Amino acid sequence: MIRAVAEPKATPRGRMSEKRRQHIFTENFGVCCLCNVKIDRRGERWIVEHKIPLGLSGKDTNPNCAPAHYECAQEKTKGDMQLINKAKRANAAATVRTPERKAAEKKYDWKLRRYLKPSVQI
Ligand SMILES: [Zn+2]
Repeated sequence: MIRAVAEPKATPRGRMSEKRRQHIFTENFGVCCLCNVKIDRRGERWIVEHKIPLGLSGKDTNPNCAPAHYECAQEKTKGDMQLINKAKRANAAATVRTPERKAAEKKYDWKLRRYLKPSVQI
């Protein structure tokens, strides 16, 4: 029989070995890091969650990893994506320094102990 519905594939970013997966599970006593409920290792679908998401410069190290129910992780990912996109926008806005923006930046003069007007040249 052909399966009509495809499983949603996990994004493969640095495959985690089964050994490491199980280690992280045991290290965290099999408790979901998102809802704090114990996960049934065999009966429930679970994943290794990055507490600080990789998209927000979280590290792919064991202390940043913890098991989570698949469903809990789906919910977290939604929220994370909003944060990641927000961070991306903020970074983009901060790095674009047009000549007009540079001129508009106030400079503090320590001798005069005040901000100089943007247009004033020294
Ligand atoms: Zn959970």
